[in-house]
Amino acid sequence: KISKADDILQKMLSEKRLKSVEDKRVGSEVFDTITLKTLYKLANDGYIHRLNGAISTGKEANVFTGIDKNDNFVAVKIYRVTTSDFKKMQTYIQGDPRFRIRTTNKRQLINAWVNKEFRNLQRADEAGVKVPKPIVAKNNILVMEYIGDEEGDAALPMRHSDIKNPEELLNKVINNMKLLYTKAGLVHGDLSSYNILIQDNEPVIIDISQGMTKDHPIAEELLNRDIENITKDFKKLGVKISAKEIRSEIIDL
Ligand code: ATP
Ligand code: MN
Repeated sequence: KISKADDILQKMLSEKRLKSVEDKRVGSEVFDTITLKTLYKLANDGYIHRLNGAISTGKEANVFTGIDKNDNFVAVKIYRVTTSDFKKMQTYIQGDPRFRIRTTNKRQLINAWVNKEFRNLQRADEAGVKVPKPIVAKNNILVMEYIGDEEGDAALPMRHSDIKNPEELLNKVINNMKLLYTKAGLVHGDLSSYNILIQDNEPVIIDISQGMTKDHPIAEELLNRDIENITKDFKKLGVKISAKEIRSEIIDL
């Protein structure tokens, strides 16, 4: 009898993503034992029935297309324990009243980081911000709503999309920023055209792990940086708008 966990393992092996169980290599990636065990656990719990190809292999995390037990696509973001930026994680976690953790343990930090991303997504979603709905966070793995089409092609970041009506898109982005700030009480902290996916002409905000509550001492600085990034990205698309104008739309005076 093949359990779902073994099923994933088998699939990884048959697709040569996993060279061997011993060295736990998945493609060019090295998945450590805890990551594999976490995958197994998520598989047994029905969150991930299959793990397909990587959508993105970044510095700190890889994002895969997964399929859950009901045959729905999910996005599986797996943080790498070896190459994560622990300085950044520490800076953004300390002083966040939701995460009063005092640790230099890398694993604990990553787990808190993934948890932070999950909770930020949840909070944003509840406030009506268009983000991937979070499904489950466990250790260094976050499972969330898959943003893409029915064929399994992931939505592209705004940076790599052909934007037909930038003014209209900017209005939608500003509306989301406003909801995030005023309703969710969060600032994103790494907002740019790389972290906005375009799905059916709608912006979907992703990658919100460093997001801070707006009462945090550095929230103001982060908000201004987000606004500057968005201003620049839309200027490149020919939209005439200043950071000041965007700011006044986000913050009700
Ligand atoms: P790194 O900076 O280390 O590359 P990251 O922290 O920037 O990783 P994300 O921005 O969250 O990670 O995701 C990386 C990419 O994965 C995104 O640009 C996007 O293409 C894809 N992606 C992330 N989340 C989803 C999702 N829910 N649905 C579809 N694609 C996604
Ligand atoms: Mn990103």
